[in-house]
This record gives sequence, C-alpha cells and structure tokens, in this order.
Amino acid sequence: MNLTHRPRRLRQDGVRGLVSETSLEPADLIAPVFIDATTDERIPIESMPGHERVPIDESVARVEEILETGVEAVMLFGIPIAKDAQGSRAWADDGVVQEATRRITAETDAYVITDACLCEYTDHGHCGSLEDELRGEAGHDHSEGCAHEPTMTVDNDETLESLERIAVSHAEAGADMIAPSGMMDGMVAAIREGLDREGFGHVPIMSYAAKYESAFYGPFRDAADGAPAFGNRRHYQMDPANAREAMREVRLDAEQGADVLMVKPALPYLDIVSDLRREFDHPIAAYNVSGEYAMLHAAAEKGWLDLEAVAHESLLSIKRAGADLILTYFAEDVAQGLTAGQ
Ligand SMILES: [Zn+2]
Repeated sequence: MNLTHRPRRLRQDGVRGLVSETSLEPADLIAPVFIDATTDERIPIESMPGHERVPIDESVARVEEILETGVEAVMLFGIPIAKDAQGSRAWADDGVVQEATRRITAETDAYVITDACLCEYTDHGHCGSLEDELRGEAGHDHSEGCAHEPTMTVDNDETLESLERIAVSHAEAGADMIAPSGMMDGMVAAIREGLDREGFGHVPIMSYAAKYESAFYGPFRDAADGAPAFGNRRHYQMDPANAREAMREVRLDAEQGADVLMVKPALPYLDIVSDLRREFDHPIAAYNVSGEYAMLHAAAEKGWLDLEAVAHESLLSIKRAGADLILTYFAEDVAQGLTAGQ
C-alpha cells in the first residue's frame, strides 16, 4: 500500500505538540466571583459545585485563592443588600461591587472586571427599569378575548442612564474593565461617554455583544439571585435562532467603542464565536456559562464523564473556535490542571 497522505504521521508522540494548533493557558481564563452583601459567611451554590457566594469581608481571600491557580483576572457579580424598582444599589458608592473592587484592587494584583447590569439589583429582576405602561395599542383592552398577551419590557433609553452611572461608580472604585451585560441598544456608547467624561478614558469595555436568551443560564440565577420575577428577557437578549443578527448586533458595539466583544453562552454558540473571529479584529471573549458547567458536573457525579477531561476539552474547543478570553467557572480547576501538566 503506497499512501502519499498519511495524517497519522503527525499524531505520533514527539511531534504532536509541534503541530498543535491551539493552546490553552491560565492567563486566557477569567473566573467569575459572586460577592453577597446579605451574608457574613460563605454560602455554597448548590447547582454550581465548588462555587460560593462570598461576603465582602471574604472577597480578597476568595480572589487570592483564584490567583494561586495561575488565573489572573476575575469578573465580579454583586448581590446587593436591598433591591428596588430602579436597581439603585447598583451605582451606590458603598455598593457591594464597589466595596469589593476597592478592597481587591488595593490588596491583590488581580485584574478586576465588573459586571455592569441591573438584574441583580432590581426587585423585578429585569436588566433595567421597566416601561411605565403595558405595551400595545393605546386604549386596547387586553383583558377579554385578546389574542396577544400584554408585555411589559425594559425602558431602553432610561436604562442607559443607569448603566452609565454604574460604570462610572465601578471605575471610581478601581475596576480595571467594565463589562455591560444587559443587551440594551446603545449601552457601549453611553458607558464610553460616561467613563471618558469622568476621566476614565483608559478603562476598557468588554461588551456582552451577542448575548442570547438561553436556558443555560439557570444555575447562575441561583447564584446571583437574578431570576426575573415575571416574563423573560427575550425582548432584549438575542433569539437563539439568529446568527446573521449577531453580526449586526456586535458591529454596533464595535462602532460604539467596545474593546472586547463577547459571545454568551459559549458551547452552544461556537459558530457565532467563529463568525466573530473572522469578521472582527477585536479580542473575542466567550462566556462558558453556568449551565455548561453544571451539566458536566452532574454527568461526572454519575460517573458518566471524566470531569477534568471534558472541562479541558470544552475550553479548548472555545479557544479553537476563535475566543481569546474565556469566562468560566472551570477557571481554577483547569488552570491548576494546566500548571500541573507542564
Ligand atoms: Zn442583566
């Protein structure tokens, strides 16, 4: 048998590493951290094994644990002491993320990225303040024999003002990067304007540019206490059916000055990650979300999957699809595995 092309030649030990196309490093990973102003002890998150909500007093200790694994960046989410219709604790000077950011940046070398959204801070759990009136034709009576349900949605432009305040308050507290996640039209421009005006022109924005209305966020909502009290987020997050729309959506954020473009979730949307990689020269981030984490843990618990192997393979796939940065609940475990394997 005379075969000219034998791809197996390059799969032998010794040469595999030389021809490997994708590498994964601890420095590619960002670890999400949940800071909870309502507790004074660490609370395990049941649906996300190994993760906890930590009190502000533990925020530095928590970040130091992450840094020890080789991961250099964290994304902070806050659970506030109180919620209201506007989500006003989100931009409070003594808010949970602001307080934790001040401590973490003062006491560690971590690169601190803050989530800028309102869903954890509003009593209704939506990502902004709500429109005053039910939508629909003026005077239309929804109560009887009406085919379409009344819908209340987030007031986009009013929410932009809140996002700007949140971003500035995070930057004042020392945040290294701001990550707006609410999928409001114009959010990047509003935040950029606010940051520049207040002297934070050097603070980059990582936009959740293509964030889908996904069922894979379930466990996160336990963690961040951010489930909407009614309805869902389909009026602002993207329809999972749409890929071309993602390019349009992401291009708007790029035009408004987003420095890093994110796709969320990651694994079910690798085609979008790959499209973005081809279309834009910005760094691309992907958020390997709580459901992607929880399902591997659940299968591993049953003995059906090798957790360490599938976690590594998941992140490698996200990188191969074109992501430069990966937000993941596996950050510490995978980083430790990478360091041990060197
Ligand atoms: Zn939100």
